[in-house]
Amino acid sequence: MNTPIQQVGFINNNSLWVKREDLIPYSFGGNKARKAFLFFDEFDKGDYDCVVTYGTSHSNHCRVVANMAAQRHVTCYIISPEEVMDLTFNHIMTSEFGSHYITVPVAQVHDTIEKLLADLKKKGLRPYFIQGGGHGNIGTEAYVNCYNEILDFELNNDIHFDYIFLASGTGTTQAGLISGKLIHHDEREIVGISIARQNPRGRGIILESVKDYLGSKQISISEKDIEINTIFIDDYISGGYGISDSVLLDFIKQVFIETGIPLDSTYTGKAYFGMSNYLYSNSIDDKKVLFLHTGGTPLFFDDIMKMYKDF
Ligand SMILES: *Cc1c(COP(=O)(O)O)cnc(C)c1O
Repeated sequence: MNTPIQQVGFINNNSLWVKREDLIPYSFGGNKARKAFLFFDEFDKGDYDCVVTYGTSHSNHCRVVANMAAQRHVTCYIISPEEVMDLTFNHIMTSEFGSHYITVPVAQVHDTIEKLLADLKKKGLRPYFIQGGGHGNIGTEAYVNCYNEILDFELNNDIHFDYIFLASGTGTTQAGLISGKLIHHDEREIVGISIARQNPRGRGIILESVKDYLGSKQISISEKDIEINTIFIDDYISGGYGISDSVLLDFIKQVFIETGIPLDSTYTGKAYFGMSNYLYSNSIDDKKVLFLHTGGTPLFFDDIMKMYKDF
């Protein structure tokens, strides 16, 4: 895959680099594309004939999974919480791929998935289930691979990143980077900026993902090492998942003007804003900082529409 890493300028005298996962060349890319390639490897090798997953109408994951299912002419079922059903470009594309949406109150999502999987099997179908956001060891593995790409870049360009910042949602992407770091015993800080979850739960889920992944590979790393390497900041969730304000939209606009890089108000905008504040408020300077751009280009266009209406 090997997505580009580009230098974009300075924040508080730290040189800032961005790894462009948003440029993964499939369905507007992003971390969900990197994960979905591995899930569909397993799908293609196995004996499956339809796909089941879940996510909100904002979900980049649902778009990419629906695209890959449609490409294979297999049916994709998407369980979606009715609480977040606003019309987004991701939702429109996911629908246009011919996905079957099943919309229920968020409290019923779990049971609805169980029932759908049982019903499909009863009909003689062989559903492949993907957790929301591509959570799980396969999703984690995708970001161990990405971590290895970062190491290759450092080796080839004689550079060392002191920090990696990223947007953390289900925490799977961060768990992959942390696992990669632990496997290589590297010195650097990987800082996840939460886009919705609060501590201690959000951080706890990442710890579980790292332990689960390393355990599945029979790699033993002390509990203490995993603990001290898991940094999850919940100061920038600003109201919760998908909720933003005009300050954030204005920030996104400024970053786009200054760097030409599109961010969105659900994920990467919050993370970039959080990173910027974190660097200033912790008086971090003269370091090399990498921002993992996790994608979400269609959400950027939703934001552009909002800005156009609001300003
Ligand atoms: C899903 C998503 C994230 C969060 O990734 P997790 O692995 O769930 O933590 C971050 N950025 C974008 C653009 C996403 O779509």
